[in-house]
Amino acid sequence: MSNNDIWCAGLQSIDNIGPKRAELFRRVGIDSLEELLHYFPREFEDRTETKAAEYYNDGEQVFVIGKVLSIEEKRLRLGLKITRVYFDDGFSGFVGVWYNQPYIARNFPIGKEVLITGRLKKIYKENQIQVKDYHFADEGNLLSKVGIMPIYSLTEGLSQQLVRKTIKDALNKEAIKIAEYLPEEILKRYLLPEIRVALNNMHFPSSLKELKMARRRFVFEELFLHQIIIEQIKAKSRVLPKNHTYSEIGILESTLLDSLPFRLTSSQEAVWDQIHSYMVSSSAMNVLLQGDVGSGKTVISILAMLKAVGQSYQAALMIPTEILAVQHYYSLKKYLEPLGVRITLLTGGIKKNEKPLLLNEIKEGKADIIVGTHALIQKEVEFKKLALVVIDEQHRFGVKHRAMLREKGDNPDLLIMSATPIPGTLAMTLYGDLDICTITELPPGRKSVDTELLDPSQIDLAYQVLRKEIAAGGQGYIVCPLVEDSEKTELQSVVKIKMNLESGILKDCRISILHGRMKNSEKDEIMLSFRQGLIDVLISTTVIEVGLDVPNASVMIITDAHRFGIAQLHQLRGRVGRSDKNSRCYLVSEEKESLALSRLQALCSTDDGFILAEKDLELRGPGDFFSSRQWGSHPFKVANPLKDVNALVYATKDAKNLIEKDLELGNPEHRFLAEEINRLKLTALLEENL
Ligand code: ADP
Ligand code: MG
Repeated sequence: MSNNDIWCAGLQSIDNIGPKRAELFRRVGIDSLEELLHYFPREFEDRTETKAAEYYNDGEQVFVIGKVLSIEEKRLRLGLKITRVYFDDGFSGFVGVWYNQPYIARNFPIGKEVLITGRLKKIYKENQIQVKDYHFADEGNLLSKVGIMPIYSLTEGLSQQLVRKTIKDALNKEAIKIAEYLPEEILKRYLLPEIRVALNNMHFPSSLKELKMARRRFVFEELFLHQIIIEQIKAKSRVLPKNHTYSEIGILESTLLDSLPFRLTSSQEAVWDQIHSYMVSSSAMNVLLQGDVGSGKTVISILAMLKAVGQSYQAALMIPTEILAVQHYYSLKKYLEPLGVRITLLTGGIKKNEKPLLLNEIKEGKADIIVGTHALIQKEVEFKKLALVVIDEQHRFGVKHRAMLREKGDNPDLLIMSATPIPGTLAMTLYGDLDICTITELPPGRKSVDTELLDPSQIDLAYQVLRKEIAAGGQGYIVCPLVEDSEKTELQSVVKIKMNLESGILKDCRISILHGRMKNSEKDEIMLSFRQGLIDVLISTTVIEVGLDVPNASVMIITDAHRFGIAQLHQLRGRVGRSDKNSRCYLVSEEKESLALSRLQALCSTDDGFILAEKDLELRGPGDFFSSRQWGSHPFKVANPLKDVNALVYATKDAKNLIEKDLELGNPEHRFLAEEINRLKLTALLEENL
């Protein structure tokens, strides 16, 4: 019998569970035995010791035992019904209180001994307990005894008692048949309880220590299974040979490096070395290039693309927005056309009659580097010999997009770039299938952006600074968040700000607006003028968020800043501080709510993206982090890869060892492990989320 059969059995295979009760369980998401047994308690109540009610303080959670003395039922106003049961506990006694449960009185024969948990209220001389849960002391069954009590999340009609009893029955009758699937040596090495014991102790531990041990097992198990998949994906993509080859030295790259107005930082050099060695190796490259905003990732990607072009291959650069694609297109042209590289731009905004020509250039190999948006993955786009795929600001694209672009070549190398730094351990879990290269320093001379939090009443301060800066030849941004997702109000707010400023504090300045409703050609024109210094102030919605590079801009004012998350604000702020000028960023917000305030304060305290990412996690918790648009869903129930760092490190090491020995988990001793991984459909989950 396989574990699968046991796990997947329906609830009705358990005694006393018929269709009606099964339906109750279904409402909390429990359909199968596996789901039931993994329905871990929300919390535990330590009922290892009782005290007389009078020894507890007012407001405390209590665990008491008493004999039923008498019962009283009263009708209050508004149809509220109250049942009061008086108990003798050998001291001053207590009163158990239930509201609107008319049937409750029947449960308490006089003289019966009852264990009660709840919250104590001391009213006059009475110890009143709002009863949360009760058990009869003489009920021979284990569940009603004192101990560490599991408390489950419930739904209407589903009681703690029913959940406890059902899980207990399932553990006693079914779970004992489950075969251990983790390798024995691992259990031994880390002193983890085996599966049946661990399951039992997650629900009914006889001590807190047992509970802790059980949790340790599941933490390890979740991370280990997850890392096995990652290691499998990694191992398989490593062995994919590629059909293009490189010579060690590229003339184009060194020519480019000589023509740049700056030298690579040593961190950029190290990263380029790494990427270069992946490219010249015989298997396809899979790299995530991380680096804070402004750390100079673009030039690395250009070097990689030149390497491909120098060997007569094509490279594609996919970018999330049209504005950015155009920006990259022009900067690539500037640097690369003198070297004879042919660059093509393909976006959704291309004119219909120009498109066939472009597509043809790409197909015939007349275009060397193809820059574009999502338009690149359209069916009609065919490449002659695509050897390198670069994806910028990858969190804007799904894995599917990544794969689709990649399929347009014959196992091309892949370089994805991200300015949203993720702490190392998290990167290991989320991007474990990629090799991670990190640019750890900013180009020299960069000054940190002075960031200040302003109340809306102080916004003129910011405008005055902006005005001074403009007088000295500088430029600036004013960013307004999208309010209520309405393009119309978005437009209104930017237009209004523009009018106010033009007739007031920024009179004589050249102000333009940029927003999502504009035609692409209009946006391009404005961006170009801004870059050429023909516009002093750009009032914009968040279309400028990623990647925009106008080094002369040195002031940013963000209105309603609390509407943005940390990562987004950090990205926005990264639009200034791109030269050796002193730059400033004003976060304008009237928000007084503490969490939003903490986010804004974090921004003021540092501009290190990695520190901010950690702060972000701390404020939001990993659940949110995973479930936010950027990261897909959280694959763990018990483990927390941010907190369980040690377990993650060991799980990764062990998973790697295991996969090295048995890539497909085909060895008989790994049968149950393989079955468990298949059953959880982890592979599919990961492919969706990476
Ligand atoms: P990001 O990593 O955010 O994509 P970019 O690649 O856009 O950053 O680079 C930011 C700015 O820094 C650009 O203007 C770029 O030309 C410049 N830059 C890149 N590398 C260096 C360097 N080593 N020294 C000086 N400036 C650099
Ligand atoms: Mg960039």
